Amino acid sequence: ISQWRNLMFLFLFLFVFFFFFFAFVLPETYVFMVQARGIQIRENVKNIGAQVLEQVVRGAYSINGTDYSYDFNESESDAPSTTYLPEGFTYLPSQVCPEKLPSMKGRLEVNMSEISLEEVERSLLEREPTMALGGFWKPKDCLPRWKVAILVPFRNRHEHLPILLRHLVPVLQKQRLQFAFYVIEQGGTEPFNRAMLFNVGYKEAIKDLDWDCLIFHDVDHLMENDRNYYGCTDMPRHFAVKLDKYSYMLPYNEFFGGVSGLMVKQFKRINGFPNAFWGWGGEDDDLWNRVQFANYSVSRPYGDLGRYMSIPHHHRGEAQFLGRYSLLRHSKERQKVDGLNNLNYSPLISRSRLFTNITVSLSRKLAPVADY
Ligand code: UDP
Ligand code: MN
Repeated sequence: ISQWRNLMFLFLFLFVFFFFFFAFVLPETYVFMVQARGIQIRENVKNIGAQVLEQVVRGAYSINGTDYSYDFNESESDAPSTTYLPEGFTYLPSQVCPEKLPSMKGRLEVNMSEISLEEVERSLLEREPTMALGGFWKPKDCLPRWKVAILVPFRNRHEHLPILLRHLVPVLQKQRLQFAFYVIEQGGTEPFNRAMLFNVGYKEAIKDLDWDCLIFHDVDHLMENDRNYYGCTDMPRHFAVKLDKYSYMLPYNEFFGGVSGLMVKQFKRINGFPNAFWGWGGEDDDLWNRVQFANYSVSRPYGDLGRYMSIPHHHRGEAQFLGRYSLLRHSKERQKVDGLNNLNYSPLISRSRLFTNITVSLSRKLAPVADY
């Protein structure tokens, strides 16, 4: 009898699963797919199907019901060389900080509750009084392996920024990186131009310090694993591989959005981001293309290290950039004429406790494109 009951349960769950799948997962995935470019929809739908089924089946057999736990060790087990240093490890101030520190424990709590900037400043500075104005920080117990500028494109997301800082600053300190945050805020009334803001941020940041690495970081992305190391690698890197909002799957192989990073010398070589993407979408794909044309390949954190949660938000009347497809067809030709080399702007710079704010009013005439 108990076997029959189990079978009944299984059928029930399968029914619920298919209902859920067709009613919610499929349309939602579809909408996203239409927005994005060149996606193997079938592949992904299959994957979602498998994931949901796994959840349902696990749910059916576990004691506490539907809880599908994120098991760091399990997915980590076949990762290459994951030897982290032991707990009592002592550093030498004269030696380069290791990459796999004992303080990097893996899974992080993600706290999305709102908090004021003043509150975050107070608590972070209390923990680490050595943070200088502008949020400049470097480790004292070893020599930082990388000098990392974190660039955050910004407009009208005031509730997100303190959440990001509260989450990320302690992680970077644990990772023993030298870093500072640059918040590049778009003024004026033009549509948002994430890519151009990154170009501005880069140009301003290198006036401060000879940074090694640039991290291009959406304000609403919170990493779930502190072993997702924000130093550079010899290849451009895509950090935000698995997003909660995309069911923790890479939406398509060429996806380069959310959080990505390049070495300064790589960024210079590809002429930075394009300036011509006004509104939502496409600029990250163009950066991917630039990276490919320069014969780089993109590296990604292994397995669950690349998991992120994103702070839910609405698109408050922001327009999609519909011209992105035609621009993307000419990525290669445009790479030489649109980027770091055709960009003019007049920034307004102010240093607050935890970051440098670069406010810049953007318009099309600031980045004239020669014929190509
Ligand atoms: N962004 C912003 N204000 C805006 C639009 C975008 O600050 O009005 C920045 C912010 O850092 C955000 C990133 O650009 O995380 C990407 O935009 P968005 O979050 O709208 O993209 P999506 O989540 O839809 O991929
Ligand atoms: Mn977002």
